[in-house]
Amino acid sequence: MNFEMTDEQRQLQAEARRLSRAELAPKAAHWDAKAEVPWDNINLLAKSGYMGLLLPEQYGGTGASLLDLVIVLEELAWGCVNTSLFVFSANAQGNRIVQLGTEEQRASYVPRIAAGTLLASHAMSEPGAGSDARKLRTSARREGADYIVNGTKCWISRGSVAGLFLTNVNFTDEGSKGLLLIEADTPGVEIGKIEPLMGHRGSPSTELIFRDVRVPADRRMSEGDLSASLFSMSFSRCCNAAMGLGAAQRAFDEAVEYLKTREAYSRRLADLQGLRWMVADMKVKLDAARLLIYRAAASAASGFPSEGEAAIAKTFANETALQVASDAMQLMGANGYSCDYPLERIYRDVRAFAIAGGTTQIQRNLIARSVLGQRDHAKG
Ligand SMILES: Cc1cc2nc3c(=O)[nH]c(=O)nc-3n(C[C@H](O)[C@H](O)[C@H](O)COP(=O)(O)OP(=O)(O)OC[C@H]3O[C@@H](n4cnc5c(N)ncnc54)[C@H](O)[C@@H]3O)c2cc1C
Repeated sequence: MNFEMTDEQRQLQAEARRLSRAELAPKAAHWDAKAEVPWDNINLLAKSGYMGLLLPEQYGGTGASLLDLVIVLEELAWGCVNTSLFVFSANAQGNRIVQLGTEEQRASYVPRIAAGTLLASHAMSEPGAGSDARKLRTSARREGADYIVNGTKCWISRGSVAGLFLTNVNFTDEGSKGLLLIEADTPGVEIGKIEPLMGHRGSPSTELIFRDVRVPADRRMSEGDLSASLFSMSFSRCCNAAMGLGAAQRAFDEAVEYLKTREAYSRRLADLQGLRWMVADMKVKLDAARLLIYRAAASAASGFPSEGEAAIAKTFANETALQVASDAMQLMGANGYSCDYPLERIYRDVRAFAIAGGTTQIQRNLIARSVLGQRDHAKG
């Protein structure tokens, strides 16, 4: 067991940290307030290779590991959660195609995702199917060399700007579920309502409607049945946990600086024992969350990390991020609550991580299953 980063990981972290503080943090409030996609940052990061960080070199990526990616995502989210979400998405959807797609699909889509010229989203949730993905109703009926797709998806992150949807469907002729690659400009694909979200406001979440969309049958992902598709969520969960952690670390850093300068009762806040213990508890949780994320990410030798370890990391990191963001706000008093400081934005942004990518309740179900096995009444 080795707890040290490699020299390359240290360099990767230092460069992402520099970029995040110099380029991303100064405009993070702008993208949030205007609910605008941070295109400047996306273009900058694409040029620097971040969109394909983890994707294989043969498809234009740099072949880094999931551990490398979570280290980078934490740093990027420290400066701007909205920007980190685009880097996450490119690497996560690109990896899904690499792991679950055909060679033609990899060659066709992954190089453009790695270059940042094609944005891809995962379209699984539906109005009647959130946690329980088995209830999804979007249908794909075979007609000659095509599938005809009908249905409505919701909460699709970056839906209005994506060029490609990795879409979970029911193959109605077979009675099975799987993944289809549906290009956004295919006739019959329509972007519905843009959800007015509390956070992640620079990463538009949309309805997605399919009306008799004709998709060539060779866009079916060869390994993308429902269980593989759900298993692939473990990758996203490590990234989700790392971005929430980065935002919480920023909240912590802001509060620590504040405590060092603000005075009450003729003493620095940093000298009040009750507040020092709060800071100590926050630090313990942040470090523990980071180690759990690293452990889960390091288990991803064959493309996806361990489901149980990713669920443990996500649960602990999501709840730590919520607690730390809330405590940091408390430590800064009214300034913490003011929109002049980044705390309130961070508070709103971290809230989403405990819901998106599978709620913390669903993660607990996965953890319990990894310990106790399947519940008897859930078998069969
Ligand atoms: C910011 C954001 C981005 C998102 N991006 C995407 C995206 O890109 N693509 C996509 O497909 N979806 C996306 N989603 C949707 C997300 O995956 C779902 O919101 C999530 O899976 C929960 O589903 P739900 O909202 O329907 O809640 P429900 O499933 O209705 O759950 C409601 C409550 O019941 C609890 N619950 C449900 N079942 C159980 C159970 N068996 N045991 C214990 N508790 C349970 C849940 O934990 C929750 O607290 C996004 C959501 C958000 C907030």
